[in-house]
Amino acid sequence: MHEYTIPLSRRVPQRLADELSKRMFFVSEAIESFELVEESADGTTAVGAVRIAARAPLDEAAMQHLLDRLVSEEIVPQRSVKAHRIWRSGQSATTHDDTFESMIDQGLAIGSGEGQFGFAEPFLGLISHLDVVFRTAAQRSFGAPERRYPGLIATEVLARSGYLASFPQFLMFAGRLHGELDSYKAFVDQVSRPAPAEHAGAAMSRALAVHSTHAGYTLSPAVCYHVYEQQAGTGLDTDLVSVTARGTCFRHESRYHRSLERLWEFTMREVVFIGSEARVLEARSSFMHEVFAIVEELGLAGHAETASDPFFCRAGAAESIWTQRLMELKYELLLPVAGGRSVAAASFNAHGTSLGEAFSISTPDGEVAHTGCVAFGLERLAYAFVCQHGLDPADWPDPVRRALADTRL
Ligand code: ATP
Ligand code: ZN
Repeated sequence: MHEYTIPLSRRVPQRLADELSKRMFFVSEAIESFELVEESADGTTAVGAVRIAARAPLDEAAMQHLLDRLVSEEIVPQRSVKAHRIWRSGQSATTHDDTFESMIDQGLAIGSGEGQFGFAEPFLGLISHLDVVFRTAAQRSFGAPERRYPGLIATEVLARSGYLASFPQFLMFAGRLHGELDSYKAFVDQVSRPAPAEHAGAAMSRALAVHSTHAGYTLSPAVCYHVYEQQAGTGLDTDLVSVTARGTCFRHESRYHRSLERLWEFTMREVVFIGSEARVLEARSSFMHEVFAIVEELGLAGHAETASDPFFCRAGAAESIWTQRLMELKYELLLPVAGGRSVAAASFNAHGTSLGEAFSISTPDGEVAHTGCVAFGLERLAYAFVCQHGLDPADWPDPVRRALADTRL
């Protein structure tokens, strides 16, 4: 391993250290691991350098240039907005620190690639149960019909929604071979040549660079974009349309993938609201409080507070983060998990008219529709549940045990 300490031209205030950490691996894949170096000067402590480990030798000047760009364009311009805590669970938790390792040992989670897992019972049943609980609440409160959408989404839809330009780091595009006999043959020929295992990935990349093309679709990073696309160009005939759907989502989380907390492939249950500003905001707020009550009934400790999305590379990213936090456009439900961490198990989002405009959706009054969505990360929810309640269903709250026993009949 090659180690470097790269000084930053602008010191990063301590309050922004997390924002820097969240983006470091997206600066360059050459970074294998990193550590922020804090320095005290003039009575304040700030991040003045970054210690980086890389597998191959690095061009230090080029790396410093990249880090300086990140810091000056995306980190330092972020204005400070204190998180607004809007709820705290009455339940307290002790978390089991070895939960993930035990899940692997017991075959409950089956590692099958970076940030990817298969699951077995009873964890599978728990994921389904939590999904049903929140889906039923949405159906009871809003009559939200259940839909099912493909795992692929047209790349053009992600471009139209702004996702493509705001979160390029997460995108996993679908490619396919050029649809010609010669291409298939040349590809097969190229990848059939014996190559040492450590070069297999590079050999495949070279072959794909020549013989493949973008299929026009991307592995969907969220479920709700399908809903806006489906409503595109329509006038709503009620003040509030709600839809719920569960789908597999894909985000390339680089080296940030960790246990079941952060995956490349995960399952999201979304409840989507489209309508007038008042109805959408009211629906988000009332559903949010319903969710908090359910979380408490599930015996889970946690809290909810304002949050922002990890905008990256987009001009005005810092401004968007500030607006999101200041206007309270995003709240997150944070649940304690192993290792003293808390993870966002759900988010409650208001998008203003940005998606209504992008997809030309109007309200019965002829106004541009507002949209909002509530998104649950089902693996994270279930993981937080077992971190807090343990892996043995005998220790789980009675209503959960009863529901799981009923579904097994
Ligand atoms: P985070 O701040 O943790 O990165 P996010 O703000 O990007 O999350 P959203 O886009 O609001 O997340 O997604 C909705 C929910 O989906 C999250 O609250 C979380 O429960 C889940 N989720 C998002 N990304 C992942 C991931 N990489 N692995 C597992 N679950 C995820
Ligand atoms: Zn959404």
